[in-house]
Amino acid sequence: MSSKPYIYITRKLPEEIINNLCTFADVGMWEKEEEPVPREILLQETKKADALLTMLSDRIDEEIFQAGEKLKVIANLAVGYDNIDIELATKYGIAVCHTPDVLTDTTADLAFSLLLMVGRRLAESVELVKSGEWKSWSPLFMAGTDIHHKTIGIVGMGKIGEALAKRALGFDMNVLYHNRHRKMDVEKALGVHYRSFPDLVTESDYVVCLTPLTEETRGMFTKDVFRKMKKTAFFINVARGAVVIEEDLLLALREGEIAGAGLDVFEKEPIDPQHPFLKMKNVVALPHIGSASIETRTAMMKLCCRNIELILKNEKPISIVNEAMFLAK
Ligand code: NAP
Repeated sequence: MSSKPYIYITRKLPEEIINNLCTFADVGMWEKEEEPVPREILLQETKKADALLTMLSDRIDEEIFQAGEKLKVIANLAVGYDNIDIELATKYGIAVCHTPDVLTDTTADLAFSLLLMVGRRLAESVELVKSGEWKSWSPLFMAGTDIHHKTIGIVGMGKIGEALAKRALGFDMNVLYHNRHRKMDVEKALGVHYRSFPDLVTESDYVVCLTPLTEETRGMFTKDVFRKMKKTAFFINVARGAVVIEEDLLLALREGEIAGAGLDVFEKEPIDPQHPFLKMKNVVALPHIGSASIETRTAMMKLCCRNIELILKNEKPISIVNEAMFLAK
């Protein structure tokens, strides 16, 4: 048996990304790009593993921690880590790493693109031209809603939220934000304004959610929240699907409580092709591609590998979620 550590990667990654890991470890990998690793295989591999490189579609819970007798680190290919039970990982002495910073600008670009798409009816317009339905020009033909000089309300003014605010300011938007903690330095530097959650949703023309998914944010967008929004306003979700009660959003859209929605994330992913959202003209649905540029995904994969390498070599990782646990060692 090899004396090298064993690293298991739960989705196919390019060879050039994992080459360095192979210099000091044995590396196993689920070889399918499109399909998540089956649970039984993940459990089997975890039994042998010193490190796991996981995707946000992998549920990492007590069963995994119990199987992973040698497991020292889980590096998740995402900034969000709502798929991992952090408290239990810490209890089992397992470091959890993630990929903040490297995806900030790319995800903010996508969030602003979604805002443009819903406001200016871009997806609908593309469909219309492709389907041969473009018959003439007329004054209100495909007329959308302006972006410039409108109010954007960012819920979750973290790294991506701030990057989104900069994009919005470039479009002369008025920027409101809501966080649990006020950010006076950011208010001063960017000229953005703090609002309570109810005030933000009432005043904004575009409400964008960019919080992590936590017990506090789960289901925070309810029918009461949508009812408070302007009937002309749009809801954009680039956080995680479960921050919204999807039934309530559906109702708000059907009843005209809000003008439309731009969704990169869903409670169940991939979304069921029969889902009513997909039949609505005023909903733009994307397949969870917030950070999906080649440059950024490459940087995320490299960061995961580097974090694993550092931990397996008993050095301080670059981006660890349960830092207190690591410092306590
Ligand atoms: P971040 O820097 O940690 O920012 C998160 C922000 O949310 C913080 O400012 C935090 O401030 C705020 N927040 C936390 N709980 C809150 C609550 N209950 N109410 C209001 N605000 C709250 O993280 P980030 O890098 O910007 O990423 C944010 C999230 O975006 C990730 O967790 C992930 O779920 C999602 N994301 C999605 C994609 C995608 O592909 N669609 C890509 C990247 C990230 P306070 O602590 O002061 O409240």
